[in-house]
Parts: sequence; C-alpha cells; structure tokens
Amino acid sequence: MTILILGGTAEARSLARTLTDQQREVISSLAGRVTDPVLPAGPVRIGRFGGVEGLQRFLGEQRISAVVDATHPFAVQISGHAATAAGAAGCRLIRLQRPGWRGHPDAERWTWVTDSLAAVTAGDNAERPFLTTGRQSLEAFRAWRTRNVLVRVVDLPAVALPERWSVIRSRGPYNYRDERRLMQEHDSDLLVTKDSGGRHTVAKLEAAGDLGVPVVVIARPAGAPDVTTVDTVEKVLAWLSHPRAG
Ligand code: NAP
Repeated sequence: MTILILGGTAEARSLARTLTDQQREVISSLAGRVTDPVLPAGPVRIGRFGGVEGLQRFLGEQRISAVVDATHPFAVQISGHAATAAGAAGCRLIRLQRPGWRGHPDAERWTWVTDSLAAVTAGDNAERPFLTTGRQSLEAFRAWRTRNVLVRVVDLPAVALPERWSVIRSRGPYNYRDERRLMQEHDSDLLVTKDSGGRHTVAKLEAAGDLGVPVVVIARPAGAPDVTTVDTVEKVLAWLSHPRAG
C-alpha cells in the first residue's frame, strides 16, 4: 500500500525524502504550476487530477492507503478535494502544515487582512510597495499600476504587468542581509505578504521590522474542517506508524 503526498512545499519534500529513505512506497504529486519545480525524492506525478472524482480514481488505481496533504497553506481547493476524495475512497488523511506567523514577536504590529483586495486597501498610501504574495494574487494589485511596485515571483504571470512595476524572479529561502538590502535599494515603504509561515521566507519580515517598513499580511484561509493537522514531519511519521489514529 502506498502513501500519497500532495506537495509543492519544502515540508512535502522533506517528508518524501524521509519516507523514501525508509524504503516506504510513496508518490508525490505536484500541480505543475511552476516551470522548473524542485522535485521531491522518489516517484513524482505532475499535473491536476481532474477534481474530486479524478483524485478519488487515482487513490483507488494506485492503491493509496494514506494521503498526506502537505500543500501550501493557501492551496485550499486541493485540500478540500483531498478531504472529500480520501473520505470517499476510505483512505486515511492527515494535513501537514507549517506554523503561521501569528505567533511572531512583531505580529501585533502588522496589519492583518483577509484577502488581496483588503491588502490593496490597507496599503493604499504606499508609493513603493514590495509585493510577495505570489503570481496568482497579482490581479488585485493592478489597482497600484501607477506605483513603483517591486514584485517577487517564482514564475512570471501570463499577462504583462504594469510598466512601472519591477519584477524579480526567484525562489526562497531568503536571508536577512539580502532581504534588508533589497528593501533598502527599492526604498520600500510597505511590505505585503501572505501568512505562508515557516522560516524560509520570514527574513523579509524581520528586515521590514528593523527598517521601520510597515507590513500587511494576508491571513490564512480556513482549511478543510475535521482533518487531523500537524506541523512537523515527525508527527506525520508518528501518525503513519499508528494505523488506527485519525
Ligand atoms: P489550489 O488552488 O488549492 O488548487 C487548484 C487545483 O490545482 C486543484 O483543484 C487541483 O486540480 C490542482 N492541484 C493543486 N495542488 C495539486 C497537487 N499537489 N497535485 C495535483 N494537483 C494539484 O492550489 P494552488 O494554490 O494553485 O497551488 C498549487 C500547488 O502549488 C500546490 O501543490 C501548492 O502546494 C503549491 N504552492 C501554492 C502556493 C500558494 O500560495 N497557493 C505557494 C507555494 C506552493 P484538480 O482539481 O484538477 O485536481
């Protein structure tokens, strides 16, 4: 019987590495959104499943016994599909999700909003925002087309960005010194991020705090209800070794 890891995150890759090292049967799944993904260890399938039905079919065909939903905290659609399909297919399901930044020492100084449109409103006075919310959320920020926005994305969006925007294509992790220098060079007067959480991209928040740059954070959407959720690979391994848990 095989474990399916729904991936696209560093945590998913870490889990895939551990399970393959333990000679467990595992398949990692990536959506195929980025052109040059970092591949996990072991077998990998890439591309959409085709909704709940497609995922459920895949679980049956591949004799999946357990699903680990280790997708990004903002990838809510696939998490919902995983909950429904795993339930229908009789598979065990666990969610692996890195801790968010609500507990960060500076979190109370940041402006927390529910979505990109609210972030646009919250940052309305900024002239040189640094935007790190990802390619899929850029549409809402076009309201800032006349500002000197610095955008950082892994892949460029399909449609052209406003002329005054500067784009950096890169992928984390990022360190404090580079993040601080980047914000100083751009003279950023606002940082906009979503609550991706974890350590890989937290340096920008620490640099913004030291430079006195205000921060707007898009809060995490609610995940699928009633799914056992843990925040470390070790806890997933413990869950996998107790067949009746969760
Ligand atoms: P989403 O909105 O929750 O999912 C949209 C659709 O993409 C799903 O319905 C599913 O298509 C497909 N899909 C998503 N994740 C998949 C996976 N791991 N394997 C196979 N199909 C998948 O997802 P998203 O926000 O676009 O994220 C897509 C991927 O990028 C995820 O793997 C996620 O972990 C990663 N990622 C997302 C973010 C982010 O900010 N959202 C950031 C970093 C990495 P079907 O319904 O056709 O099966």
